[in-house]
Amino acid sequence: MGAAESLLAGGLSEQREGLDRGDVDAVALVRASLARIDALAPLTAVVARRDEAALAEAGAAATRIAEGRPRSALDGIPVLLKDNIVQAGEPATCASRILEGYVSPFDATVTERLREAGAVIVGRTNMDEFAMGSSTERTVYGEAHNPWDATRACGGSSGGSAAAVAAGLVPLALGSDTGGSIRQPASFCGVVGLKPTYGRVSRWGLVAFASSLDQIGPFGRRVADCAVALEVIGGHDARDSTSLPQAMPRLRDALDGNVEGLRIGLPREYFVTEGVDPGVLARVREAIAVLESAGARFVEVSLPHTAHTIATYYLVATAEASSNLARFDGVRYGRRAEQVADLADLYQRSRSEGFGPEVKRRILLGTYVLSAGYYDAYYGKAQRVRTLIRRDFDRAFDACDLILTPTTPETAFPLGAKSADPISMYLSDVYTVSANLAGLPGLSLPCGLSEGLPVGLQLLGRPLDEATILRVGDAFERRTQHHLARPPVAEGAR
Ligand code: GLN
Repeated sequence: MGAAESLLAGGLSEQREGLDRGDVDAVALVRASLARIDALAPLTAVVARRDEAALAEAGAAATRIAEGRPRSALDGIPVLLKDNIVQAGEPATCASRILEGYVSPFDATVTERLREAGAVIVGRTNMDEFAMGSSTERTVYGEAHNPWDATRACGGSSGGSAAAVAAGLVPLALGSDTGGSIRQPASFCGVVGLKPTYGRVSRWGLVAFASSLDQIGPFGRRVADCAVALEVIGGHDARDSTSLPQAMPRLRDALDGNVEGLRIGLPREYFVTEGVDPGVLARVREAIAVLESAGARFVEVSLPHTAHTIATYYLVATAEASSNLARFDGVRYGRRAEQVADLADLYQRSRSEGFGPEVKRRILLGTYVLSAGYYDAYYGKAQRVRTLIRRDFDRAFDACDLILTPTTPETAFPLGAKSADPISMYLSDVYTVSANLAGLPGLSLPCGLSEGLPVGLQLLGRPLDEATILRVGDAFERRTQHHLARPPVAEGAR
């Protein structure tokens, strides 16, 4: 392995130190990242790249670093964007046929902030079409593969970003999480994934799926890497009306390894054995023991409306999706059906040909639950239950400072295992959707393997309290080795 390859094999902080020491320069590092994307193309994690522009940007970063004036902890670092986060002059397809040929005229706020920080965006990652899914199988680019076992799913919908970080293509990638799409693939691929508080990160330039649930967040090898990334991409943005006004704190200051006296809630409803892989429960219980011996106190809490979260999510999310996706009409963006009879035919044919079956299912469901006769019975009721779910968390946070759960009930499932059964696919989000419904920050981090596959530990915090979940996640990493486990495809990588 050459110097650049071995630097790429480390996480963000190793790469930062290597660049600062001058072991290799940013051009060599970005070149190594592009070469590795080529070498691991069969994963189908990366669906678009911008080699020439990335190498030019890396050259500018190399000069800044050599002159001792790096712009940030991300200067010269190769990163990837999920294909629903736009970058000026680049395609953004959301892995859908309907956006074929679309090129964004503007940068998402997160893109702009990454670029201002000197990060080098090398390309775009695979996903479930319009972020609807939990497996990265429903995509025009072909299913993505889990680096731990190519016959298994890498989770979704941000599966390409998770697989890319796990396989060491880049140390950092962005994804989006509407019901678990950062945390679930992070868990399946054995990397860290952070869904920030709703409103913490601007959604400007994120193609909307369900606007009241969507949040952008980072994937990294280490908890600290995600803290650094959130400091860069988070904070108020006037272009997103739901962006929170609070300034972004220096999250790295919270990572001191101390969890003494913190109260961690274990929701009674989540620790049931039925439907949960025993290996997952065993790893999570071991993690609890590690944190307990570090001085954290565990308390049982109750989230009584847990049984209704999946139904509530699929009513709210599909309703919002049906409205958001109305803009893809064959006129304004991307692909347009040819030889149409009239305008109605143009809309109908462009949408019928452009959207895949799961997206159509969601549009139909969402249109139905919003329709005049059913609005109160479905959408209205779901909104009321959403309030009850949020109150469950308010009450739980009276008794604890954060909540700990498994991220997913099982480890990465085989490709194809759930494709024919949408309900079983929806159930993979049973532990993750409530954080979106309640707007809370959630972190998933590796806590060991079950039958050779990664298990994810989920930490949920109070609104705006990313610091506490990052503190606890980092403290766990300091006392364990799980974050060092590498998938077979990245053997030899640190
Ligand atoms: N798997 C969930 C869904 O299909 C969540 C997706 C997401 O978070 N974007 O809707």
